[in-house]
Amino acid sequence: MANRNPPFPFTIVPQNEDETFMLAALKEAWKAFSSNEVPVGAVLVHKGQIIARGYNQVEMLKDATAHAEMLCITAGEAALDNWRLADTTLYCTVEPCVMCAGAMLLSRIPQVVWGTIDTRHGANGSWVNLFEKPHPTHSLQLRSGVFQEYCATLMKDFFQKRREEKKNGF
Ligand SMILES: [Zn+2]
Repeated sequence: MANRNPPFPFTIVPQNEDETFMLAALKEAWKAFSSNEVPVGAVLVHKGQIIARGYNQVEMLKDATAHAEMLCITAGEAALDNWRLADTTLYCTVEPCVMCAGAMLLSRIPQVVWGTIDTRHGANGSWVNLFEKPHPTHSLQLRSGVFQEYCATLMKDFFQKRREEKKNGF
């Protein structure tokens, strides 16, 4: 029987705050990978502390909206007892999709840091750019490419594993 919690596959020494928190998001993505979910992870940071975590659970919950970022935002709102996520930074391993980008704006997250591009669903330029025009009431700052290669490797390995499983009739 397969090990349900295989060890995190990378040895990473973070060099700054962004890398420290992206590493935590990568560990969430690894939980998704290990559960046969598309490996996307997210953490929400408030005043230097992680207050919420999330990983993609679309398959397990049979819910197309159960993205890492959505689950993390909901958990963060509960942690702060407020739907306005002021003074927070959301770290996610993959470029947010339109749904998650919309939720980031609605929950007033001031800062988002993402890892690797998503050519199919990315809403920060890869498919569409929801942040191209300044929002009339809310400003959201974005940074990207933090641990890009690790975030991308998890995605690439996941889809390769899935193709092989399909080929072998699993
Ligand atoms: Zn999403």
